[in-house]
Amino acid sequence: MHYFIYCILLLSCLTTVQAAKTSSTSVALHLDWLNPQIDPKQNFYQYANGGWLKTHPLPHDYARWGAFQVLQEKNQHIIHHILEAIANTPNKKPGSNEQKIGDFYFSGMDEVAINAAGITPLHSEFDRITNIKTLSDLQPVISHLQILGVDALFNFGQMQDYLNSKKVIGVALQGGLGLPDRDYYLRKESKFIKIRAQYQQHIAKMFTLLGNSKKQATAAAKTVMDIETKLANASMSRIEQRDPYAIYHPMSIKQLDSLTPHFSWPHYFAQMQHPEINSINLAMPNFFKTMDNLLITTPIEAWKTYLRWHVIHTFSEFLPAPYVNEDFNITAKLTGVKKLLPRWKRVVNAEDQALGFAIGQFYIKENFSIADKQHAQVILIHIQHAMKNELQQLSWMTALTKQAAIKKLNKMNARIGYPNVWRDYSQLDIDKGPYIRNVIRANVFLHKRELNKIGKPVDKNEWDMTPQTVNAYYDPSKNELTIPAGILQDPFFNSHAPASVNYGAIGLVMGHEITHGFDDQGAQFDEEGNLKNWWTSEDLKKFNLATQCIANQFSKFTVAGDLHVQGKLVMGEATADLGGGILAYRAFHLANENKQASTIKTFTPDQQFFLGAAHMYATNINPDEARRLVITDPHPPAVYRVNGTFANIFEFTQAFQVIAPSLMINQPRCIIW
Ligand SMILES: [Zn+2]
Repeated sequence: MHYFIYCILLLSCLTTVQAAKTSSTSVALHLDWLNPQIDPKQNFYQYANGGWLKTHPLPHDYARWGAFQVLQEKNQHIIHHILEAIANTPNKKPGSNEQKIGDFYFSGMDEVAINAAGITPLHSEFDRITNIKTLSDLQPVISHLQILGVDALFNFGQMQDYLNSKKVIGVALQGGLGLPDRDYYLRKESKFIKIRAQYQQHIAKMFTLLGNSKKQATAAAKTVMDIETKLANASMSRIEQRDPYAIYHPMSIKQLDSLTPHFSWPHYFAQMQHPEINSINLAMPNFFKTMDNLLITTPIEAWKTYLRWHVIHTFSEFLPAPYVNEDFNITAKLTGVKKLLPRWKRVVNAEDQALGFAIGQFYIKENFSIADKQHAQVILIHIQHAMKNELQQLSWMTALTKQAAIKKLNKMNARIGYPNVWRDYSQLDIDKGPYIRNVIRANVFLHKRELNKIGKPVDKNEWDMTPQTVNAYYDPSKNELTIPAGILQDPFFNSHAPASVNYGAIGLVMGHEITHGFDDQGAQFDEEGNLKNWWTSEDLKKFNLATQCIANQFSKFTVAGDLHVQGKLVMGEATADLGGGILAYRAFHLANENKQASTIKTFTPDQQFFLGAAHMYATNINPDEARRLVITDPHPPAVYRVNGTFANIFEFTQAFQVIAPSLMINQPRCIIW
């Protein structure tokens, strides 16, 4: 479950992706990305990327457009070709992955059939809600909708037990909101008040599309807003959730039932087809206490309205045009995006969610070489080696903690490219439509697959990202990092690029993921992935001061004019960027390839390294999206991932001969390694 993993970039359903302009892969040090008019000693991000930012304006159907998105878009085209080719292949074996891939795509592209079917394919779901009469009727409908992928009240999934990482347990998490975060319901600034009004209008419009009168729809929207605001009030903030102890409350059924007397957990587990579950992690007890209270204080009719809303909210993007367009309206308000993505891109995105690993098998065949994998592995080994050196030489850490840290590093598992064992889709039925039923069957399949892990040994072959994903992650419960094939491409990695650039880019990504094992959260997990302190109290104090320094530094930065970066929210990712940058730099200097490094134009190998790193974060973004991300994304805004991070790296200052005072020298410098 993605909730518990830490990646290089937050991928979100609202951040969609788009059309590649040009991306040259032959020249790997992208000097055409520079803006030579900017002084690198004052604003390195603008210096390294200013040219690119000017020539890559935000496309109308994207809320942000950067190196990550351009590469995602390139992969999207590749996947599109794969899907088209498979869909057009005759005589596919029924039940084969090819048949499923082809039919899913066919059903998603069949706009005529989608529009003709209307919301008929959802009638049974709406009828189920209509038939609710009592509180005891309500609960099975909530669980049923959750299995379908609807965010009804809360979320239920699986996780490795924090205290015993060999055990997979159930976990219940806060949820049930239609806006991106509880802050959207609670913040007092005018921009948030405005978006709440727009959201309420959007809910009303959806109800009128479903056949309600304007008056009914307006009342329904208010009902939904009331319930969601109460849930938001009871929700933990993202910063609070960063403390693993704060979201770990293992409870027996007896404890659960006494906390929420109006919600029957034995019935719930039976409804989720796991009657054997007798304890779970109830991650946010206060949220569930409030939910329980709401169950008896909110009229049944109001719950029915709330559930209707969440059904349509979840599935509108797969329905006829009026629903798609109204759904896009609220996305546009939240992210500032101006134009809906073309249908094929929306279908590719949905299918990648549904059948991503089946598609991945085809993607890998044409788009990833053993040579690239081996090359990436060599870089990774150097990064790991650099980390070991750092730990051994670290002046502030005592021998005892060093020993434990090195043990954790030695045990850290790393995977590159694609899974050894491919996901089995044989239990998933896909046909030629209606499209929405394919989407729902895929949701049910994936949800059941997650829940089936509970009580079973941890599957070491499982990947939480498909191989075609342009991202990477570290999972603290497995002490494992994963670098999918999708990110092993320019500008992150290019086998023809100078070593300086590859270490600056993919080397930093690898160092970033390794550092997650030692950031403010990761450092609380031991080499086996258990939440267990392995630090001496003296060292832990020093480490906390170092990460606090980063939180303070990033809190000073602002986006969209007036909104401050939440230092405490981004501190783990900012720590990973800083650690990653330093490890990658050291690894580059350890690598044999460094010996052949030469000056390109006037740029020294060290300068090339920092340019390669900065290029990864080149991003155009509109203010609404920047605001949304500063609330929801634990990663700092792109400009600060470069300037804020490099301002702490002494070797950067040296490479570009920066002299204090400068915005590119942080005072005091935050030092982790
Ligand atoms: Zn990260």
